[in-house]
Amino acid sequence: MHNVSVLIPTPLQQYTDGRGAVSLEAGTVGAALANLSALHPALRHHLFAEDGNLRAFVNVYLNDEDIRYLDEGLQTGVGAGDEIRIVPSIAGGAVTMTGDRKDLSAGEIRRYARHLILPEVGSDGQRALKRARVLLVGAGGLGSPASMYLAAAGVGTLGLVDFDTVEESNLQRQVIHGTRDVGRPKLESARQRLLDINPSLNFEGHGVRLTAENALEIIADYDIVVDGTDNFPTRYLVNDACVLLDKPNVYGSIFRFEGQASVFYASEGPCYRCLYREPPPPGLVPSCAEGGVLGVLPGIIGALQANETLKLILGIGDTLIGRLLLFDALRMRFRELRLRTDPECPICGEAPTIRELIDYEAFCGIRPAEVERAEMRIPEITATELKARLDAGHDIRVLDVREPYELEICKLDAAELIPLGQLPTSLSKLNKDDEFVVICRSGRRSAHAVLMLREAGFHNVFNLSGGLLAWSDEVDPSMPKY
Ligand SMILES: [Zn+2]
Repeated sequence: MHNVSVLIPTPLQQYTDGRGAVSLEAGTVGAALANLSALHPALRHHLFAEDGNLRAFVNVYLNDEDIRYLDEGLQTGVGAGDEIRIVPSIAGGAVTMTGDRKDLSAGEIRRYARHLILPEVGSDGQRALKRARVLLVGAGGLGSPASMYLAAAGVGTLGLVDFDTVEESNLQRQVIHGTRDVGRPKLESARQRLLDINPSLNFEGHGVRLTAENALEIIADYDIVVDGTDNFPTRYLVNDACVLLDKPNVYGSIFRFEGQASVFYASEGPCYRCLYREPPPPGLVPSCAEGGVLGVLPGIIGALQANETLKLILGIGDTLIGRLLLFDALRMRFRELRLRTDPECPICGEAPTIRELIDYEAFCGIRPAEVERAEMRIPEITATELKARLDAGHDIRVLDVREPYELEICKLDAAELIPLGQLPTSLSKLNKDDEFVVICRSGRRSAHAVLMLREAGFHNVFNLSGGLLAWSDEVDPSMPKY
């Protein structure tokens, strides 16, 4: 038993003989309120319902803590000199916003009202969100919904790493950008949209490519990283930097109709390398640019990433640490795989071999396209040259090695279609003495086709440098890009 004082709010002082504070002996908060009711029986009816529970509109604070958020509630023990404050709702039934909401302005209290009434968030949680610093890598499909929801939820500081500009083909899924933003840096477009959602946001733009040279310096300033990248080198870079700096890495990835999400946090569970020790060889897994992605899919996965981020900040619920969530949009099915920490993981395992950031392009087997093509000695022709030679009536066979559905988007009239996968079985139908120019969307697949043809004994074969994208830029701006 300790001596505590119970502070009585003005409307209830009529039941305590006008006293604003009552001193009494008690061992717990509940006992203090019971003793208070014994001393002033008229008060009981205002504090407790028939079933003996506190009335829903009465909040009780032990010192500065709302007892609803203390593990033991009314059973919470009290110490000598503690203050118990009774805070009833005032007219209209609104929750009283007294001293406990310090640091939040009246505007913030209005804005975050739906959070403040959630016991799991409340004013303490809202202040934690305001203090939080979250870094998003990429302002694309995943970064769009993730950053918008985090800004709206009141995360105080959002950093964004992106060096791209907005293209029309982004708008199908990157909802943070609008039609009028086409051509602008994504960073500027995102900043404007996020500050419109929440003007009190502290936005920190990093208009650079995340590299082994700058990643540690950038990430060190943040509490949590949200990985919205679309390529393997950056994914491994983000993972390794987060492990080295001991930051949680909220992971999401998307392809066609399927998505994945997890939280990698080496001090509490596995990292991305525990899941995939090495990346697939380049070209084996198509990118979204090559394979497509359903517009809403990044919205779903990016919102899951925002959800995990908020939970990490608030310290509530069960996060995806140690779990890989798989989403199939066509079958409308979520599945979950258990992830284990790999004791032999090269970065978070028992004897790590990676102690600093490495060359991620080389690790992923990627060399700059120009170097690759020069080394393979692929003869090329520019779009302008090809146009001139076709116009001059040269006898050139143009082979388009894209897929049939891509032809519906754009094509050259002169081209014959042989999808790359069917080229090996179609060689016998081609005359080795003809002159060929091979084309595709970007010039990558056609480069492979040129190599294949030359190895098969075709000598007069050229690659359309930059593909149909270059044709659109140099020759025919009306040709759609995709
Ligand atoms: Zn690991």
